[in-house]
Amino acid sequence: MTVTLESVITCPNCGHQATEIMPTDACTYFYECTSCHTLLKPLAGDCCVFCSYGSAKCPPIQEQKSCCA
Ligand SMILES: [Zn+2]
Repeated sequence: MTVTLESVITCPNCGHQATEIMPTDACTYFYECTSCHTLLKPLAGDCCVFCSYGSAKCPPIQEQKSCCA
């Protein structure tokens, strides 16, 4: 299957969108909005900011592997 590495993060605070490349071997737990500099954290039940705010889930989730174990 194809894993998407690009994810568009939408800031919940200001609505700014930024395209980021996701690392395949680690989760991105903190992400600072490039516009308003709010530090984003994953929502409850999500493993990383891409799962919570991104247009694509993080690579381990896309591959249905457990992540951040
Ligand atoms: Zn923002």
